[in-house]
Amino acid sequence: MRVVPRGLFARLLAANLVVAGVATTVMLVVADLLSPAFYRGHLEHMIEVMGPMGLSLRADLEGGLHDTLTRALLAAFPIALALSALLAYLLVGRISQTVNLLVRGAQEIARGHYKLRLRETGEDELSELARQFNRLSQALEQVEQRRIELIGSVAHELRTPLAALQGYSEALADGVLPPEVAAQSIAREVRAMGRLVEDLSLVSRVEAGAVVVHPEPLSPQVILNEARERLAPAFSEKGLTLELEVGADLPKVQADPERLHQVLSNLLSNALRYTPEGGRVILGATLKPEGVCFFVRDTGRGIAPEHQERIFERFYRIDPARSRKDGGTGVGLTVAKGLVEAMGGQMSLHSEVGVGSVFWFSLPAAKGTARTG
Ligand code: ADP
Repeated sequence: MRVVPRGLFARLLAANLVVAGVATTVMLVVADLLSPAFYRGHLEHMIEVMGPMGLSLRADLEGGLHDTLTRALLAAFPIALALSALLAYLLVGRISQTVNLLVRGAQEIARGHYKLRLRETGEDELSELARQFNRLSQALEQVEQRRIELIGSVAHELRTPLAALQGYSEALADGVLPPEVAAQSIAREVRAMGRLVEDLSLVSRVEAGAVVVHPEPLSPQVILNEARERLAPAFSEKGLTLELEVGADLPKVQADPERLHQVLSNLLSNALRYTPEGGRVILGATLKPEGVCFFVRDTGRGIAPEHQERIFERFYRIDPARSRKDGGTGVGLTVAKGLVEAMGGQMSLHSEVGVGSVFWFSLPAAKGTARTG
């Protein structure tokens, strides 16, 4: 372990003592030089009052003053110096302690330990420095935590299809599975892994704020119709109804058509996945003060309050086993939320267990566009 430099305290203390020493010496010399001139008026008056005797005492009086002053100043000099040294010791101690802690903190961070926090006591610059340092180490700690979680999640997500692939290839080699069945199963697992890799790549770009969007004025009605047409077959296959509910006279939105379709498709796929047969899903848009609000409402199982915040986190699933079986990668909502935010909107959720869920997202209205039907 590298040692924190120790010389700062001694150097600051020495600097303070030199300043105090020079100041008191200058005071001593100046007082010695100027005091006779300042005393002269009083001395003349005394000699005048005393008459001829005063004249003979002039040298004595002048010498007495000089001696008294010099002795008093010489006595004051070490006291002043000692008090300055004590004060400097206390003040310099605090400065050098904070600097040393900062140095140690920076060394800890360089070694990958982000837990160290400095004491934030007052409102001065040193406390502010400590506060900013703590903020920095906290941010680094969170980044590191996310990195560890991401690696853990990716390893976990890849393990399942890899284990399946191994099982199918062994079954194929042992002749337990007919080649065409094994080939189909292997292809399905490879597709799942491909989807995971695609989603991961997108989610990392979303989280890094590196998604490029190409916004243009789009009609909500047209976009929603297209989304419905794309997914209607899958809904009817599962015995679900998919309805449209588009407010009248909605303005165009400023959005990237491909990204917007992706958001709608993620939300609709979830509604399809988590709504039991016979359920109803409504896809729509309405006008709100923050812009045009799109929504996907389902009559599915709903989401308990403790999960509502967390489902937007990557790989968060309420029921991991079920979601994996149904083919979700657990990043659909992370991607959807990130894309909406990249287009200048917000996403939120209202849900009740056993009743259903509504996923909302707003998008800014396109400037200067006429309302569209
Ligand atoms: P997944 O690929 O697992 O669907 P998402 O990020 O899209 O990942 O969703 C995260 C989790 O949120 C899901 O695993 C599911 O538990 C829950 N969820 C998402 N949408 C709905 C919904 N419409 N109804 C109930 N639960 C939902």
